[in-house]
Amino acid sequence: MSVDTAELKRLSGAHHWHPFTDHKELSALGGPRIITHAEGVWLTDSAGVRILDAMAGLWCVNVGYGRRELADAAYGQLTDLSFYHGFFKTTTAPTVQLAARLAELTPPGLSRAFFANSGSEANDTIVRMVRHYWALKGKPGKKIIIGRDHGYHGTTMAAASLNGMPAMHAQGGLPLPDFAHVMAPYPFEGQGEMGAEAFGRLAARTLEEKILQLGPENVAAFIGEPVQGAGGVIIPPDSYWPEVGRICREHDILLIADEVICGFGRLGHWFGCQRYGISPDFMTLAKGITSGYIPLSAVMVGDRVAGTLIEEGGEFYHGFTYSGHPVACAVALANLDIIARDGLVRRAGEEIGPYLRTRLEEVLDGHPIVGEIRSEGMIGAIEIVKDRRTRERFPGNGRVGLMARDHCFHNDLIMRGIRDSLVYAPALTMTEDEADEVAQRARRALDLTARDLGVT
Ligand code: PMP
Repeated sequence: MSVDTAELKRLSGAHHWHPFTDHKELSALGGPRIITHAEGVWLTDSAGVRILDAMAGLWCVNVGYGRRELADAAYGQLTDLSFYHGFFKTTTAPTVQLAARLAELTPPGLSRAFFANSGSEANDTIVRMVRHYWALKGKPGKKIIIGRDHGYHGTTMAAASLNGMPAMHAQGGLPLPDFAHVMAPYPFEGQGEMGAEAFGRLAARTLEEKILQLGPENVAAFIGEPVQGAGGVIIPPDSYWPEVGRICREHDILLIADEVICGFGRLGHWFGCQRYGISPDFMTLAKGITSGYIPLSAVMVGDRVAGTLIEEGGEFYHGFTYSGHPVACAVALANLDIIARDGLVRRAGEEIGPYLRTRLEEVLDGHPIVGEIRSEGMIGAIEIVKDRRTRERFPGNGRVGLMARDHCFHNDLIMRGIRDSLVYAPALTMTEDEADEVAQRARRALDLTARDLGVT
C-alpha cells in the first residue's frame, strides 16, 4: 500500500496525540516517521528507507516481524469466533488453552492466569488483588506496595505510582497514597569500591530498611522487574534477588515479578524469575506473550493468593471487556509455539545474545566515551561517560543518551537513549550478520556523539 507521506504527517500534526511525546518538538522536526512494513528485524518507512530495529519495537517483537503463522492464527480465530468474553460463566477455547499453557511454562506455583490488554492494566489488577488478599487475611492495613527507583510498570494511575520515575509522578499528582520506593540495584552507579555482589546485598537491604521504617503490618508487596528495562537496562548482581526473596518471606510481603520485558526468552530463560531464582506470588506478562502482534497481557497469580481469593473472596469485581480476547489468545498460542519450536530462548541466552555483546565489545573496545557494556541474553546497555576510569558523567543530566539515540536514528538504527546510556533489545531471531550491522552502526553513532561532545 503506498501512502502519501506529507499528507499523513499533516494529519498526524493536526489530529494524532502520540504516547510519551513532546508535540511541539515533534512538529518542529517536521512530524513523525511513518513505518509501513516490517520483516524480521527490518522496518521500512514510507520513503522506502530500511531501518534496523534493535529494540524489537518496544521490547516486544520477540519472534521478529512479518510471521505469516501469526497472521494465519489471527485470521482463523477471527473467522471462527471473532469475539466472546469471560464474564457471566462463559469463556472461549483459546483463552483457556493459553491459561493452561502459561501455567505450564511459568515456574511452579503460578497456576492461574487473569488476562488484560496491557502491562499497565495487568499491574493495576495486581494492586487490587494484593490489597484484597490482605483484607481477606484480616490485615487490611497491609496496603503499601514498594517499587524501585528507575522502575517502570506502566502508565495508568496505579501502575505509574509503582514506577520510580519522578518526571511521571510530577504530572497528575502521583504517586497515589500507599506507594513507596527504594533504590535500584544499579552497580554501574552504586557499587564503587565494594564490588557487585556486596552492592547487590546492600541494595536489597534498603528494602528491608524501608519495610521496617513503614512497619511490616502496613506493607503489602514489593514489585520489581528481574532486569529493569525502561529504567536503563539495570542488571542486578546475582546476590540481589535471593536477598529480596528472604526479606519478603521474613516480613510476610508478597513478591511481584514484572516480567513484561524479561518474559518469553529475552534473558535466555523463559522468564527472568528462572534466571535469578525468584519465587514470586505474582508475575506480570505482556509484550513477548504475543510478540506485540496484538495487545494482550496476563497476571499469573500464585497458589497462595489464588487460594484465598477464590475460597474466601466471593466475586472479584474486576475485569475488562477484552480480558482473554480469543483472537489475542490464539495469536499468543501460535507465538509460544514459534518460540519453543525455533529454540529462541536458547538462541537468546547462548547464541545471538552473547554474539551481539561480543561484537559490541570488539567494535567499541577502548572507545573514549564508553564506560561499560552490559547485557543479559538479548537485552543490553552501553553506558556513556566522560571519564572511563572515574565513571564521571557528561553534564546535562541524561542528554547524551538522547544524543547517541538520535545519531542511531539518523543512521537507520533503532536503539533507545535512557539517561546516559544507549540500550538495545532486538528480536531473538536476529542473525549474526544483522548483529554485526548493529555493532557497526552503534559504533558510528557513538563516534558522532563523541565528536559533538568535543571528545576525540
Ligand atoms: N511493565 C514493564 C516492565 C514494562 O516495560 C512496561 C512497558 N514498557 C509495562 C509494564 C507497561 O506495559 P504497557 O505499556 O503495555 O501498559
